[in-house]
Amino acid sequence: MLGFSGTREWVYPQSIKGKFTTLRRWTFLALHLILFVTPWIVVGGQPVLLIDIPARQVFLLGSIFTASDSFFLLLILLFAAFALFFFTSLWGRLWCGYACPQTVFLETWIRPLEIWIEGDRVQRRRRDQQSWSFDRVWRKVAKWAAFLVVSLLLATAIVSFFVPARELWTGSAGGVAYSFVLIFTALWYLDFTWFREQFCNFLCPYARFQSALTDDETLLIGYDPARGEPRGGKGAAADGRCIACNKCVVVCPQGIDIRNGFQLECIQCARCVDACVSVMDKLGHRTLVEYTSMAEQAGKNVRRFRPRTVVYGGLLVALAAFGFTLASQRLPFEATVNRVPGSLFTVDPDGFIRNTYLVQITNNKPGETPVDFEVIVEGIPGAEVIAQDVQLASTETRTLPLIVRVSQDQGLGRTTPMQVRVVTPDGEIGISTTFKTGADVDSGTD
Ligand code: SF4
Ligand code: SF4
Repeated sequence: MLGFSGTREWVYPQSIKGKFTTLRRWTFLALHLILFVTPWIVVGGQPVLLIDIPARQVFLLGSIFTASDSFFLLLILLFAAFALFFFTSLWGRLWCGYACPQTVFLETWIRPLEIWIEGDRVQRRRRDQQSWSFDRVWRKVAKWAAFLVVSLLLATAIVSFFVPARELWTGSAGGVAYSFVLIFTALWYLDFTWFREQFCNFLCPYARFQSALTDDETLLIGYDPARGEPRGGKGAAADGRCIACNKCVVVCPQGIDIRNGFQLECIQCARCVDACVSVMDKLGHRTLVEYTSMAEQAGKNVRRFRPRTVVYGGLLVALAAFGFTLASQRLPFEATVNRVPGSLFTVDPDGFIRNTYLVQITNNKPGETPVDFEVIVEGIPGAEVIAQDVQLASTETRTLPLIVRVSQDQGLGRTTPMQVRVVTPDGEIGISTTFKTGADVDSGTD
């Protein structure tokens, strides 16, 4: 945190054990499994999740999404935004305390390593206040080296979602991939060694707007002044008032005192809850710091179903239903039909009118088995169609010529609607286009 003088006041959070710390360990473990294991899982011969930016393809749960599926990206972003709104309105900064990578990595790797190498809060603080000695230097060097290794590991794990994990971790990926590993390593290293809680306080946009998403009935972590004040007794009071042990303050990674009321810097990690529980348990009282809400503290009823939670929840359900419906109807291939540039039609020596098109087909079906594609033309009476059937491997794209010839005797008008069907065993795509003739002119080349 910044002190009143504008200089950084280094935070030395004390380690803590408790119910919420244990619960958070489980969520951290789950998130680490997602981070380190997901990129290695293969479904139908493809990674379960891989965002291949150069190829503009996303491999997700056995499906391949391309640039033409951008609408799904919009839906996912909207879903993520409304999920954040919904959960924040109900449970406050659940994301910050339990799932934000900043919190997860700091709590899983950085603080334990720091405690292991430099000791707990008191030792770390005392050593930092002393002049540089051999003991202080080797511990700092060892800690920073360990942080560098952690930063490198985490950066590589993150980039594994963008480059096949096997290539990346075995050193056979391209230079661009390793450049990003280095960039992410540098960013994490800067965060771990110096920036830390300042990220939440000064940079994170969510911390800025989350207050607009909460109301008096949102679950927050708060101190109960009605029971806690006046503080400073010996815990003998029947209602268990605050004994001013400061334990809730020294464990706080944000360097704040929760007894001063709800604060923007609070990431709701619940370390202060575990701290106060450990103190008040010994005194036989209920904790003074707990999950609560402003309404609860004011003695009012708390409604879980409020207008804002109902609206956010309803939008979430609607978006999910819409997304699943679209995804279930989505075909694993793409096809486009375009007229050959520069020519609407030509008249062949035998008097037939010729329209030439280019049919581009992409197979987005994962797996080793190639898919057969058949091109069929409909809507033009007496048409002579020269089309190619094709077999495409997964992610392969091919552009095929399509020629449609019609005798002038058919007497077609200048423009006749025409359907091109691209058919596979999994379904078909129908594309509308037109057949052009000279009608009132001798040659249509233009
Ligand atoms: S006040 Fe409590 S919940 Fe908030 S950041 Fe500090 S320790 Fe975590
Ligand atoms: S841990 Fe509980 S008793 Fe101790 S200072 Fe904080 S609120 Fe008071």
